[in-house]
Amino acid sequence: MEQQKEMPEQYRQFGISPEVYFFGQKAEEELKERFLLADAMAEKNQLKVIHAMQEARVNTECFQYATGYGYNDYGRDTLEKVYAGVFHTEDALVRPQITCGTHALAIALAANLRPGDELLSVSGKPYDTLEEVIGIRSASGSLAEYGITYRQVDLLPDGSFDLEGIRKAIRPETKLVAIQRSKGYQTRPSLSVAEIGRAIRFIKELRPDLPCMVDNCYGEFVEELEPSDVGADMTVGSLIKNPGGGLAPLGGYIAGKKELIEQCAYRLTSPGLGKEVGASLGVMQSFYQGLFLAPQVVAGALKGAIFASALYEKLGFSVIPGSREERHDIIQAVELGTPEGLKAFCQGIQAAAPVDSYVVPEPWAMPGYDSDVIMAAGAFVQGSSIELSADGPLKAPYAVYFQGGLTWTHAKLGILMSLQKLKDAGIVKELSS
Ligand SMILES: *Cc1c(COP(=O)(O)O)cnc(C)c1O
Repeated sequence: MEQQKEMPEQYRQFGISPEVYFFGQKAEEELKERFLLADAMAEKNQLKVIHAMQEARVNTECFQYATGYGYNDYGRDTLEKVYAGVFHTEDALVRPQITCGTHALAIALAANLRPGDELLSVSGKPYDTLEEVIGIRSASGSLAEYGITYRQVDLLPDGSFDLEGIRKAIRPETKLVAIQRSKGYQTRPSLSVAEIGRAIRFIKELRPDLPCMVDNCYGEFVEELEPSDVGADMTVGSLIKNPGGGLAPLGGYIAGKKELIEQCAYRLTSPGLGKEVGASLGVMQSFYQGLFLAPQVVAGALKGAIFASALYEKLGFSVIPGSREERHDIIQAVELGTPEGLKAFCQGIQAAAPVDSYVVPEPWAMPGYDSDVIMAAGAFVQGSSIELSADGPLKAPYAVYFQGGLTWTHAKLGILMSLQKLKDAGIVKELSS
């Protein structure tokens, strides 16, 4: 294809220079193959979702809802069948009463551990918000307060599971194993579903009865298989990330073995009540429609992540993962090296947003962080990180964590804007590839 000589006028409205635009076009051209792979993955996962909806006999009645106790909330009960179909599990819990991913994980843990039991994380330090759930950082109501102990086995320096370490760490009181698929806000690589499967097989050989839970946040629909396809007993995530498809206004899910999900339901609502109560109050259509769109949305976000990786790699920045590496989640880290670089990047993402585009993000002190943090998000759903967003702590190596984009074209605009801001600030000088 002959390269366009003129930049589409619309990009000029956003302050993008021809130099930045054509630098992006060249990178995009080189990513054709990768983008086709993302489309092929979306196709497979789209068919999986539609098939699960058909098998569960989804109909328009599913978009109605019960009130009060929510007995026989047909839309809610059917959606849980759909999730069980997508994840190939016996059962699932998917509800607006699960407020977010952290809450879903907290339920899965607290429901299936009892005083004296030990939780073992085999992928190192868990996601920040779980530190308080577990009691690694002391917090009121943590598992530690209920006499549930915690141990962790770090990943090896190359990012793989430390199988020998895991063998030694499993003790009679170990009653649940936790694995985190995505790197979250660390610079380790994310784990593939295949690697997770190998670790679970290893654990099951040692202790066939030991349940394994996977924190699947940011990983859904990036690969053909999910952790539940390779032996995870509970697969847990947030609906304001991948599986909500940008439409779910809140929520979380747990998909897995029937008896574990049952425990989760008793913990979420109340002993004795379990799954029977919990009115869905009108959010069901967004849960269904968001799940339906999710494979495409994830493909768009993946293209954005790959594009950002390629662009910043060309400019000599350190990027995780690299533009040619296989993807296991939608997060892209770019080490910008300076506070000014980090700020300019986030300001570019913000300036490309459909909502709050006129806001200029500034670094701010955040609870739980030991340095200021800058965040860019102009989202329809507050805090939604399947929508285009970027954030990073103001400390070396000044890495930005970039994710989401409900459409590839929005992600592209955001990344071009980030580069334009770096260029305008004189942080990036020559755009030569
Ligand atoms: C986002 C995230 C969570 C928590 O989900 P929230 O919806 O933000 O509460 C947990 N684990 C990982 C790996 C995440 O990325």
